[in-house]
Amino acid sequence: MRCEEEDELLEEEEAGVARPVQIVSADEEEHSFSLQEAALERLLLQDAVQDLHVVVVSVAGAFRKGKSFLLDFMLRYMHKQSGSWVGRDDEPLTGFSWRGGCERETTGILAWSEVFVVEKPDGCKVAVLLMDTQGAFDSQSTIKDCATLFALSTMTSSVQVSCSSSLQSRCYATLFLSLCLSLFTEYGRLAMEEVYEKPFQSLMFLIRDWSYPYEHPYGLTGGQSFLEKRLQVKQNQHEELQNVRKHIHSCFSNIGCFLLPHPGLKVATNPHFDGRLSDIDEEFKAELVSLVPTLLAPENLVEKEIGGVKITCRDLLHYFKAYMKIYQG
Ligand code: GDP
Ligand code: MG
Repeated sequence: MRCEEEDELLEEEEAGVARPVQIVSADEEEHSFSLQEAALERLLLQDAVQDLHVVVVSVAGAFRKGKSFLLDFMLRYMHKQSGSWVGRDDEPLTGFSWRGGCERETTGILAWSEVFVVEKPDGCKVAVLLMDTQGAFDSQSTIKDCATLFALSTMTSSVQVSCSSSLQSRCYATLFLSLCLSLFTEYGRLAMEEVYEKPFQSLMFLIRDWSYPYEHPYGLTGGQSFLEKRLQVKQNQHEELQNVRKHIHSCFSNIGCFLLPHPGLKVATNPHFDGRLSDIDEEFKAELVSLVPTLLAPENLVEKEIGGVKITCRDLLHYFKAYMKIYQG
């Protein structure tokens, strides 16, 4: 990064401008990842949040899967919390930067600099951290790096939203499932004892551009029936795949799937599209309005647990460092 850019970032930080912060960066040449410890400390050790139980929502996927787009709607929800949160018709979408085109962006994990404090219906306050996990799937080596990155974000989050497009969903889901298996083994090694608790909380497969609503309707219900079909263990399947399907339920307490319709041609192809609602298909908006609160409404927030115990922001910092060590091992 050039010095001027660095200065600008520091100035923004001092001025308290909310923005995405890189917390894990990748060195693609070296095939290694590094934790931006100072940045993560600044996020998690803020006085207002460090002792609160933490909810970590990660949105993960390859480039150009609409992750930033979704995260920006999640930010709108977090800022408003109720009523009409989705925004005005002519309001450009801001937050995590998103754009069209096929230029590569850097892989790694970004977090939103504001950690939100939310009161749950039982009166307990929790801290909500939003993460953007971006991997690449364009060669064998990047697939392996990507698995490491997704493992890391799954281990540090309480809700992993795994984005894929309708076309890709079959192979992607398989990749993700086999990753979970290796994660489970890794986690067991880390705990150095029998693992009784399910290590991870929530996994949500988010499938974009779903085009078979007549087979499985949009939303959570259609997603659930689609997932059940996909997760069925059949005799004629490859053994590895059978194992993955059997084990995935021992990894996550809760596995869901949500089918999102295509947002419309302006969103997908118009270079001047700025995220305003009036350019987005009604059907998509309707599903978005149901998806975001499913993940973020106070009554639906899932606190991060490790070994069955809820952890605080301060603990999360510690685990990030510990998990990072495994991969640098
Ligand atoms: P990211 O790289 O995963 O963060 O993707 P972005 O959020 O930057 O979005 C990449 C492009 O996809 C942008 O041009 C968006 O307008 C567009 N986009 C966002 N959501 C969707 C979707 O659900 N389907 C399609 N086809 N395009 C989308
Ligand atoms: Mg992005």
